[in-house]
Amino acid sequence: MKPLIVANWKMNPQTLTEAKQLFNSVKKGLKNIKNACPGLSRRVEVVICPPFVYLPQLQTTNYKLLKLGAQDCSWKKKGAFTGEISPSMLKNLGCKYVIIGHSERRKLGETDEMINKKIKAALKIKLKPILCIGETEKERKEGKTSEVLRNQLKKALNNLTIKQFNNLTIAYEPVWAIGTGNPCDPLEAKKALLFLRNFFKKQLILYGGSVNSKNAIPYIKKAQFQGFIIGGASLRAKEFIEILKRVSKAQW
Ligand code: PEP
Repeated sequence: MKPLIVANWKMNPQTLTEAKQLFNSVKKGLKNIKNACPGLSRRVEVVICPPFVYLPQLQTTNYKLLKLGAQDCSWKKKGAFTGEISPSMLKNLGCKYVIIGHSERRKLGETDEMINKKIKAALKIKLKPILCIGETEKERKEGKTSEVLRNQLKKALNNLTIKQFNNLTIAYEPVWAIGTGNPCDPLEAKKALLFLRNFFKKQLILYGGSVNSKNAIPYIKKAQFQGFIIGGASLRAKEFIEILKRVSKAQW
């Protein structure tokens, strides 16, 4: 499986014009990187997760290096669920991935049980879930990181078949590191990664939390993560492309 770089645009940008500009800049940057480094498509997959409303405009099935993902999905297929978006709607708009259980959604009330249902619904139609897990600052200070991760996984992955389990991607995103400019030290993140590797032998495990072009590489080289979820830095085309450039040169 290829390492994955996931851009989580969150609730940005504010207009379709800006969204298209950002998307096209990333696409152009990726093409340049590919020209300079022809093996790139074999080495890394880049996924843009914009707000739902921009998906139809950014749908891009013909550019191999750039995939689309969503930031969330419903566990319902269709019907009277006002405001919800089903996994099959996302698939029909060209999405290959969906982020599930992001801490910003958990803060709004999403539970592990809801996350479990969303994962199953996405997998059912072959939309690849990227499950986000991570501890809060308080839990970290209390030395509970492993316990928190174990509990989140136990509930989120309840009753999954082995095949479903094998199709997951896990993102370790310490809550305290997201959007704070205070990334988790790569060696501390490595401890979480090694803990997660006890359960996930083959699945990709990503790191997320204040990644930028200057701090990205040690998560790959020192900690052996297989990619990133990138929020803030993915909204600045130059910075995001710089991360992709550096990452594409790194040995995985
Ligand atoms: C995220 O949104 O998952 C994230 C990691 O954001 P940031 O890179 O801004 O910390």
